[in-house]
Amino acid sequence: MKRRDLIKYLSVAPLAGGLTGVPFKSAAASTALKRDLIQELGLRTFINAYGVYTTHTASLMPEEVMEAINAASKKYVLINDLQDKVGEKIAEMCHAESAMVTSGCWSALVLGTAGVLTGMDKTKVAKLPDVSEFERNEVILQKTHSGSYDHALTNTGIKRVFVETAEEFENAINPKTAMTWFYNEAAPWGKIGHDEWLRISKKHKIPAMVDIAADVPPVENLWKFNEMGYDLVCVSGGKAIRGPQSAGILMGRKEFISAARLSAPPGGGNIGRGMKVNKEEIFGMYAALDRFVKLDHGKEWQMWEDRARVILNAVSKVKGVKAEIFVPPIANVTPTLRISWDQSIIKLTPKDMTLNLRNGVPSIEAPKSINDAMILSVWMMQPGEEKIVAKRFAEELIKASV
Ligand SMILES: *Cc1c(COP(=O)(O)O)cnc(C)c1O
Repeated sequence: MKRRDLIKYLSVAPLAGGLTGVPFKSAAASTALKRDLIQELGLRTFINAYGVYTTHTASLMPEEVMEAINAASKKYVLINDLQDKVGEKIAEMCHAESAMVTSGCWSALVLGTAGVLTGMDKTKVAKLPDVSEFERNEVILQKTHSGSYDHALTNTGIKRVFVETAEEFENAINPKTAMTWFYNEAAPWGKIGHDEWLRISKKHKIPAMVDIAADVPPVENLWKFNEMGYDLVCVSGGKAIRGPQSAGILMGRKEFISAARLSAPPGGGNIGRGMKVNKEEIFGMYAALDRFVKLDHGKEWQMWEDRARVILNAVSKVKGVKAEIFVPPIANVTPTLRISWDQSIIKLTPKDMTLNLRNGVPSIEAPKSINDAMILSVWMMQPGEEKIVAKRFAEELIKASV
């Protein structure tokens, strides 16, 4: 970064540590100059206008979470004791019977399914993913709910059975049906809603699992699906909750959580052995959830809305620009920007805008366009960064205006 750019950047970013990605501390707070690994490794950091995505390292862990992780790293505990205690606390916070920390929502999906398949039978645990001789080895889901995350279920060896209507659903249930699976984000795309799905699952006494990985906020979703009657609920820990990105939560009926733990470390050679969560991640997940549940969510929302408005106001001043704030109905439910422009008077494609923002100083990551509009997410920015994004976005638009 040129000195001139640096001064310009610092003048608009009093709080942002965007240069290195390391949170900015006053000089007095750190006497010795810390080793800068980001610089050492020559990595690019950026302002996250993209949102919560694994490719972009999802979210930043708050101070409370890092404190929990650091404290945990200095003591030994038994991993099973820790899962018991943290599981109890998580269950209490989320109005569930029981809970465990998993390695991401993905492993919650795998281990939860494993628990349903094996129960407390250790011979069955050892057999996974060979379920050919299991009495029950099928999972029913709606066709519209398939396509990505349902793949996790197949890690256990189960066969997926796809249905479209409630009638098909009832007819598909047979003595081999082990579980039913609902993908919450896909709720509007399927013909069967939560109530009917649960009614039919319960009528036939088949446990139902729901994937709500990215569906907080609202915070109430952490207990809504437990209260609705799902037997297992799977959530990501490193998205909105801002725990370790490698952590997640499996919660629900005690019998299934206890069984799921048999397929997870430290149980020796089981299908979950590669899904280890270390004590730091378990403590970090707990601290993150505790913080998240207690947050003033109204204030958070206001902050996101204010950020979005800063960007909206800046880009709206440019002739030919159309910008609005919208809220996605499910998943990533936060004030989000949709910005498009008349490309006959602003000679820039959204794809080039994305590249220019990425290659600018400081670097900004924003998603590529959907239908020629750019979607900007503000909730994963650090305070003050919205001003930089507003300025850079408007600059690029003006530069390309004829
Ligand atoms: C992100 C996501 C997952 C995977 O979660 P991880 O925490 O990254 O393992 C699963 N399902 C859905 C719907 C997701 O959005």
